Amino acid sequence: MTFENTKAFAQELDSQDVLHNYRDEFIFPKVDGKKVIYFTGNSLGLQPKRTKSYIDEIMKDWAELGVEGHFYAHKPWWDYQERFAKPLSKIVGCLPSEVTVMNTLTVNLHLLMVSFYRPTQKRYKIICEEKAFPSDQYMFQSQVHFHGYKPEDAIVEIKRRDGEHNIRTEDVIAKINEVGDALALVLIGGVNYYTGQVFDMKAITAAGQAVGAKVGWDLAHAAGNVKLELHDWNVDFAAWCSYKYMNSGPGNASGCFVHEKYHADKELPRFAGWWGHNKERRFKMEPVFDPIEGVDGWQVSNLPVLSLAPYLASVEMFDEIGMEALIEKRDKITSYLEFILSEIDKEVASNFEIITPSNPQERGCQLSVFLHGEGRDLFDYLMKNGVIVDWREPNVIRLAPVPLYCSFEDMYDFGQILKEGINK
Ligand SMILES: *Cc1c(COP(=O)(O)O)cnc(C)c1O
Repeated sequence: MTFENTKAFAQELDSQDVLHNYRDEFIFPKVDGKKVIYFTGNSLGLQPKRTKSYIDEIMKDWAELGVEGHFYAHKPWWDYQERFAKPLSKIVGCLPSEVTVMNTLTVNLHLLMVSFYRPTQKRYKIICEEKAFPSDQYMFQSQVHFHGYKPEDAIVEIKRRDGEHNIRTEDVIAKINEVGDALALVLIGGVNYYTGQVFDMKAITAAGQAVGAKVGWDLAHAAGNVKLELHDWNVDFAAWCSYKYMNSGPGNASGCFVHEKYHADKELPRFAGWWGHNKERRFKMEPVFDPIEGVDGWQVSNLPVLSLAPYLASVEMFDEIGMEALIEKRDKITSYLEFILSEIDKEVASNFEIITPSNPQERGCQLSVFLHGEGRDLFDYLMKNGVIVDWREPNVIRLAPVPLYCSFEDMYDFGQILKEGINK
């Protein structure tokens, strides 16, 4: 499709967009009384209007029923997480028994590492990507320490080649083969938070398992953004937060996947709690842990229902739309933004460098852009003029044109504001 950098063309794309009405389902912050252009849905998604009613329902049930709400609430609390299994399984591509919600992301990755990072003297190394999200780095270091190994020996980072912004699949696989018998775990962010690169999760999972390692994925920037086939890719485990592309609100609950092949293994080490215990017998208060067969066997505490409610509102919205429609718009709006950036770049004779892969198969809806020669005052200008972006020193902005609520007109308007900001 040939794009045009005009308001009329952008509006025409909006009029053809089957998801355009979902924009009205979200509450936008405003600057000078006007909805902002929101590019930070990869950090904290906007609030869907329907979310409040999901929380209000629980507040009402709690007021009217007290403890009885566990069993008699509109959506009983004691097994509230089961409502996620079906819709979430479609979002991440797995069986309903393989997916649940609990805790928060880093906590879940730690809990999953308890089961899937079982180092021995010979096989104890972890492969991750260079400059992984800091929480993941701290997690690896502390896990390695916990087991009595040294981070500098046990953690192997995959590097970018000189002059390249993204990591090559062939380099990941070569490193996996090089570490070989010493490799216990591969755990990488499925979509890199900084560059927006989507890793070849299928190929990397197969390569890791071929040398006898377990393979897990941190899907913080992938869930609700890219196509996932966790079951078919034979991924061992995965977890993601729900407040980025899944719009569940600040710090809210995490999603968690454990492959079916582990469900019957009750001997698999794990850190247990009563919510992972045999569901029918949970309230018999038995002394010996009998894990639920399924990912719910990794549940620990009783459910934070007030924090799950906004996530349920979101998951049900994703279920209405389906990932196919979302991905179709994502590719179009991301390409349109890429086009707008290149047009503005020509007009202002600046030097934007998009470090996100240009191949749509290797990216979701994020474009990370080096604005060579521009500084922090450009960021301030954008923010003051109603463009919410995130800025990384010295001069990188990350732009996520989230298909659920961003419009093509937003992309055009952004281009004009960017141009003014650079020319001023
Ligand atoms: C956002 C993000 C996190 C955040 O972890 P929390 O435990 O939810 O604070 C972790 N890992 C990656 C890759 C992220 O992008």
